[in-house]
Amino acid sequence: MLDQYGRNITYLRISITDRCNLRCKYCMPNEVTDVGMKNILTFEEIWEIVRAGVSLGITHVRITGGEPLVRKGCVDLIRGIRAIPGVETITMTTNGVLLRTYAASLKEAGLDGLNVSLDTLDFEEFASLAGRQNLKEVLDGIQAAKEIGLPVKINAVNRKELNPISLVLYAQQEKIPIRFIEMMPVGYGKQYVGRSNDELRACLEDEFGKSEMITYQANQKKQISEQISHMAQTLHTKEVPIGSGPAVYYRFSELTIPVGFISAIHGKFCESCNRVRLTAQGYLKLCLCYDKGIDLRQILRGEEALRNEKNIQKALNEKLTTAMRAAIYKKPAAHCFEHPEEMTEINEMVKIGG
Ligand code: SAM
Ligand code: SF4
Repeated sequence: MLDQYGRNITYLRISITDRCNLRCKYCMPNEVTDVGMKNILTFEEIWEIVRAGVSLGITHVRITGGEPLVRKGCVDLIRGIRAIPGVETITMTTNGVLLRTYAASLKEAGLDGLNVSLDTLDFEEFASLAGRQNLKEVLDGIQAAKEIGLPVKINAVNRKELNPISLVLYAQQEKIPIRFIEMMPVGYGKQYVGRSNDELRACLEDEFGKSEMITYQANQKKQISEQISHMAQTLHTKEVPIGSGPAVYYRFSELTIPVGFISAIHGKFCESCNRVRLTAQGYLKLCLCYDKGIDLRQILRGEEALRNEKNIQKALNEKLTTAMRAAIYKKPAAHCFEHPEEMTEINEMVKIGG
C-alpha cells in the first residue's frame, strides 16, 4: 500500500524476541529484565499480522530480534510465514552464533537468505565488543549456510574502530557480499561516534582500488532483487547486486564481491523507505526514530470485542488490516537522526530489531 507520501510499503521486519545470546556494546551491553513470554507475540499472532500485512501489499518479511535463533521454534515460525500466500521472500538477520545448528532446517523451512552481523575477525575484539567469545561459532555458522547453499550477506556496523579491510578480505575470500551500516543514534548507539560510509569507502579505495556505484534501471529492480538473494552461489564480477533494502552497492576495481553501504545518517534514504517494523511485543513501528505506531497485540488480544461476531477469524483480520492500514498511511516523512532531540524512540535496538 502507499503511505501518505506515496511510498510503497512492501517490507515488514519482525522482531521475534527481545532476548539475545550476545551483549554487543552498541546494542545491549547489559543484562536486561526479561519481559516474559506472555508479553511476546505468539507464532499464531505473528502469522495473523503477516496475513493482514500481505493483504496490504507486504511481500517481503525479515525475521530479526534480539537474536531470532534463540527463540524456541523459530524454524516452525518461518515455515508458517512461508506458507502464507503472498509472502514472496522471507529472510533473517542473525548474529550467527547458533547458525550451524539451524542452517539446514532454516533452508528446509523456506528461508530465502540470511544477513549475518559480523563486526570483527579479531577474537579478542569480538569478545570485548560482543561480551562473549563466540567468533568461532559465527564463522562456523557462515560456512554451514554456504555449504547448504543458503545465501548469506555480512553486515558490519561502521564504528570508528572498525577494521573494514580485514572484513572485506574475508568476504572476498568467501565470495559473500558485505555491507557497512552507519551507526545510528538509537539506544546505546548514541554513545558511539560513528564515521560516515563515504569516509569508509575512501579508506577501502586506498586498499582495493577505485569504486563505482552499481546502477540499474528502475524496471530491472525486481529482477535484480531476486538475483541478489541467490548471489552467494552465483557471484560473478559482472552480476548486478541490488537488494530490496536501502543498501547502495559499489564495485571496487580489485574486488569481485559487491560492497554495500547503508548510510542512514549521511545518505538519508527516507524518500524510498519501504518498510515498517513489528516489535516482539506486537507494536507496529513506522520509523526507527519515533515511537509512533500502533499496538497490534492489544487488538489481537482484545477478542472480547469480537465475541458476537460469527466469524471471529475474519473479523479479527479485518480489524487488524484496518488498524495497520491507518497506521502505515501515517508513516513519518523522514527520520530525524540529525536532530536527536526530536527523537521519540527511547528503546534500544535490541527491542526494535535493527
Ligand atoms: N541479533 C541479530 C544480529 O545481531 O544480527 C539481529 C538483531 S540486531 C538488533 C540487527 C542489526 O542491527 C545488527 O546488524 C546490528 O549490528 C545492528 N545494530 C544494532 N544497533 C545498531 C545501531 N545503533 N546502529 C546501526 N545498527 C545497529
Ligand atoms: Fe544481540 Fe544483535 Fe544486539 Fe548484538 S546486535 S546484542 S547480537 S541483538
